Amino acid sequence: MYNPASPSADEFIDHREVLDTLEYAARNKNNVELIDSLLEKAKPRRLGKEVHCSGLTHREASVLLACELPEKVKAMYDLAEEIKKAFYGNRIVIFAPLYLSNYCVNGCVYCPYHAKNRKIPRVKLGQEDILREVNALQDMGHKRLALECGEHPSENPIEYVLDSISTIYSVKNKNGAIRRVNVNIAATSVENYRKLRDAGIGTYILFQETYHKESYHTLHPSGPKHDYNYHTEAMDRAMQGGIDDVGLGVLFGLERYRYEFAALLMHAEHLEAAFGVGPHTISMPRIKRADDIDVNDFNNAISDGTFAKLCALVRIAVPYTGMIISTRESQDVREKVIRLGVSQISGASRTSVGGYGEEERPHDTEQFDVSDQRALDEVIKWLMDLGYIPSFCTACYREGRTGDRFMSLCKSGQIQNCCHPNALMTLKEYLMDYAKPATRKTGEKLIEREIPAIPNDKIREKIRFWLSDIENGKRDFRV
Ligand code: SF4
Ligand code: SF4
Repeated sequence: MYNPASPSADEFIDHREVLDTLEYAARNKNNVELIDSLLEKAKPRRLGKEVHCSGLTHREASVLLACELPEKVKAMYDLAEEIKKAFYGNRIVIFAPLYLSNYCVNGCVYCPYHAKNRKIPRVKLGQEDILREVNALQDMGHKRLALECGEHPSENPIEYVLDSISTIYSVKNKNGAIRRVNVNIAATSVENYRKLRDAGIGTYILFQETYHKESYHTLHPSGPKHDYNYHTEAMDRAMQGGIDDVGLGVLFGLERYRYEFAALLMHAEHLEAAFGVGPHTISMPRIKRADDIDVNDFNNAISDGTFAKLCALVRIAVPYTGMIISTRESQDVREKVIRLGVSQISGASRTSVGGYGEEERPHDTEQFDVSDQRALDEVIKWLMDLGYIPSFCTACYREGRTGDRFMSLCKSGQIQNCCHPNALMTLKEYLMDYAKPATRKTGEKLIEREIPAIPNDKIREKIRFWLSDIENGKRDFRV
């Protein structure tokens, strides 16, 4: 029986409810009156200084996903862009993944790290290796990492992950520092989540892979990850362990995308119903080729057009949730979906264990093929040439603005007085410490152009002051 507030995965991702939703969506896909009313409902509304968006339920958003009327699809894209501008302006937050270990006891059939793959070299970084990787990442200019690690009780116990986090935070290389470590590790216990919280992680990220229980069991034939309910209820345990910011995601291509989309939104609704705060982020990965993985074995793979529509509809349905894409996507696809609502992208990623310390991109332990292989400086310049402000901001978590406090910042319309100046200051740091001359020139002009867009007079003045402090060698200012 469907119950969004239930602690049981079988009830908050009720299979029958997903099927009924898909049937309802198919029945209404050409219902122009309903579609117009949903687009109207989801529009951003200004109330004084505040901007509000109501979002859409999984049923409502599924109707839009089913609709293929060209003028309505265009209206969806326009609305996604409008919401993106209202909440995220032209800022794009930058991060990099850091792979700690590819030892894994699970049997996920879409991932080359699965336990039965005897071809792939198994590598685990020691604390010295991590120091080398973090130095390399800091030398590029990164401030925000996402830790990735296979599930292996003896090779990668929680103590290893905690030690690694502490090593990462300890590295101060010239003006560099990693200021936020998000963690993507296997579903674990409330006690372990509490330890991660105490270690000062940012967001806990766990991809559901697929919400379809039967497919989930087939795709995860062995290992602890085979337990669908334990995996699907992980975010509840993370929140019980005191982690306020959790990040959801499905691996598009494993199951029918309409099923995944409805269930993903049901998961977001569950967190809201059970804990009063929705997911901090939603990641949008698609299945990619890798070591012994062939995309053609997965017949639910989605086209670039469908992927863009999914991104637009996530933006419309959950306007306050950050949306992340990785370098799995090509430059062209990234350009398209950034406009439609993506707020965070990875840059210059290496998806192999120990990949950053090497001059040449190592391929032997890659988790997936990287489509966008540009250096970070190229990505930053490219974003600025497109009119975006690359941001290395990590302020909220460090100011204690997590969970519902972060959401109220979002909803209060103060984002432009907060994210915008922080983006400019962290970009300035990047320009001073790491940028090539052409990138720096472009960036300086962009900062000058963007300062007047800070609405609050006092903050604007303070930022001018801090920007010149950064020029004089000081670092780490934040609003
Ligand atoms: S997806 Fe994660 S759990 Fe599954 S095999 Fe790969 S590393 Fe292991
Ligand atoms: S101020 Fe907070 S919400 Fe805004 S970019 Fe920085 S960390 Fe993100």
